[in-house]
Amino acid sequence: MRYRGRFAPTPSGPLHFGSLVAALGGCLDARARGGEWLLRIEDVDTPRVVAGAADAILRALEAFGFTWDGPVVWQSRRTEAYRAALERLRADGRLYACTCSRKDIAARARVGIDGPVYPGTCRGRPARADAALRFRVSDVRARFRDRLLGEVGCDLASECGDFVLRRVDGIYTYQLAVVVDDAGQGITDVVRGADLLTSTPRQIALQDALGLETPRYLHLPVVLDAAGDKLSKQTRAAPLDIAAPLPALARAARFLGLGDIEAGSLAEFWAIAVARWPTARIPPVRAMRPR
Ligand code: GLU
Ligand code: ZN
Repeated sequence: MRYRGRFAPTPSGPLHFGSLVAALGGCLDARARGGEWLLRIEDVDTPRVVAGAADAILRALEAFGFTWDGPVVWQSRRTEAYRAALERLRADGRLYACTCSRKDIAARARVGIDGPVYPGTCRGRPARADAALRFRVSDVRARFRDRLLGEVGCDLASECGDFVLRRVDGIYTYQLAVVVDDAGQGITDVVRGADLLTSTPRQIALQDALGLETPRYLHLPVVLDAAGDKLSKQTRAAPLDIAAPLPALARAARFLGLGDIEAGSLAEFWAIAVARWPTARIPPVRAMRPR
């Protein structure tokens, strides 16, 4: 079976324990199946990009003994592909121009699975350059089978609403970029944190609209801090000590249900972890604290 996975960090800060867990789970899944594992820097949202963060992430991955296949893909160099995808959706009548402000939307919208559900106020307006572009979702229930969590379903129209693919400032959004790039890189298996589980139905709807194949999905538990919040660059999760990679790798492996790995070297850690991955007891939950 062909297998191609990827790790797709946003360079808004250094690698932290939560992103190490996602990278480790993804890389082990790929290696255990004799597959490829690709790297993509998700720097499409340029105002969020922190100078030097992408290089720091790449250096950290190397220090932790990750190896990846092929050249690193940078979303900031992929705008032509995003533009072409939008053009296709526009020609198929799936896009419209939205000039609502956040305030307009907040005043009229219910709160759905990932923020306000856009009420469709601007539906039917032709796309134009000086407005945000929204994707018109259909009424069918989006479903997929997560490899860990099982059947996941979402009624996009009522739980999520029409979503933005290009912002008014011209920036292509994560939902569009990730779908175009997963297809462009031939990704068969997406392994990532369950914080993105609510994005998956939107991505599948876009894949369908663009005539792209849907990869398999595995959503790993998200690491919570002591206060119960997701570890993230925004909450200033402590960067990892790249001079001493083994303790953090062992903690990440334990978090993923691989048990204790007492390795004397990176090579030994990776050999044990890859061999154990098929029997890992990954907790099938959306979030948890590390022990
Ligand atoms: N760039 C996203 C993040 O860092 C991950 C996207 C994905 O794996 O689909 O949270
Ligand atoms: Zn609008």
